Amino acid sequence: MNQGKSLNTNVPGNFYVTSACINCDQCRQIAPHTFSEVANLSAVTNQPNEYHEVIKAFYALISCPTGAIGSEQKDGLSTAIQDFPLPIIDNIYYCGFTSRHSWGASSYLILHPEGNWLIDSPRWSPQLVKRIEEMGGIKYIFLTHQDDVADANKYAKRFQAERFIHALEKESQPDAEHVIQGMDSIQWHTDYKFIMVPGHTKGHMVFLYRNKYLFSGDHLAWDNELNGLSAHRDVCWFSWKTQTESMERLAKEKFEWILPGHGNRVFLSQLEMKNAMVKLIEQMKS
Ligand code: SF4
Repeated sequence: MNQGKSLNTNVPGNFYVTSACINCDQCRQIAPHTFSEVANLSAVTNQPNEYHEVIKAFYALISCPTGAIGSEQKDGLSTAIQDFPLPIIDNIYYCGFTSRHSWGASSYLILHPEGNWLIDSPRWSPQLVKRIEEMGGIKYIFLTHQDDVADANKYAKRFQAERFIHALEKESQPDAEHVIQGMDSIQWHTDYKFIMVPGHTKGHMVFLYRNKYLFSGDHLAWDNELNGLSAHRDVCWFSWKTQTESMERLAKEKFEWILPGHGNRVFLSQLEMKNAMVKLIEQMKS
C-alpha cells in the first residue's frame, strides 16, 4: 500500500512517486530509466514500456522504504516480489525491502556452504522470509553499525541466526549473540574478515568476503555522479578525523567490489580500487 500524495513532478502514466519519498536513492539505483531526482525527491521521469523496465520499476516499488512508489496496474508485481533476493554476483544477493528505520539502506545475503550470512537487515517481509528459507535460511547476521539494523532481531529469531555487532553499537541490538570488542580486525573464517572502521559511528565495522567483496555499510560507497568513491562528512555522526584514519587502514586491504548500505555498488580492478581509495583519502584530508 503506497503512502502520501502523488507528486506533480511525475510524468503521467502507470508509476508515480508520492510525497512520502525520503530521497533515499534506492529507486534511482534500481530503475534509473524510470526514476530521477527532481527537487530533492525522486520522481517518475520516464514511464517504463519494455517488460524488463516495468519489472525493475516494481523492484523499486518493493524496495522503497516508505511505500512512496505506486502503480495503477499491478501486472508484474507478484513476479517481481518472487525475484527477491536479487542476484548481484557469484553467491551474493541484494535483499531489497529496505526499511525506513535504516533510511532505505541496502542489505545483502551471502550464500555459503557453512551457513548463509545476512549483511545488515531489510524490513520484515513474509515474502522475503519465504524466499530466504528456500535458499537455505540465515545462519549469521553481520550488522555494520547501529543505523542499519532495521528488523535484524526478527530475522534472527525467525532463522535462529547469530548476530554480530560491535560493543559500541550494541544499544541497537542489546541481545545480540556476538558482541565484538576492541578495534583490531578479526579474521573470523578464511572467507570472512571483520574490519573496524570507526568514524561514521563509534563502532562501525565492515565485512570483507574472500578478499574481494567489501560490504561497507555507511563507511564508503561509489558515487556515480562523482565517478569515484565517496564518504560523507555531513552524515558522519562520530568523527571525520577518525573516519579518515579508518579509510587509510582500509586502503591496505585487497578488495574489488564495494557493496554499501547507501550509495552505489561498484566493481573495480584492485589497482583501480587502490587509486580510487588514495584519491578519496586525499579529498577527506583536504
Ligand atoms: S525508494 Fe522511495 S523513498 Fe527512496 S528515493 Fe525512491 S521513492 Fe523516495
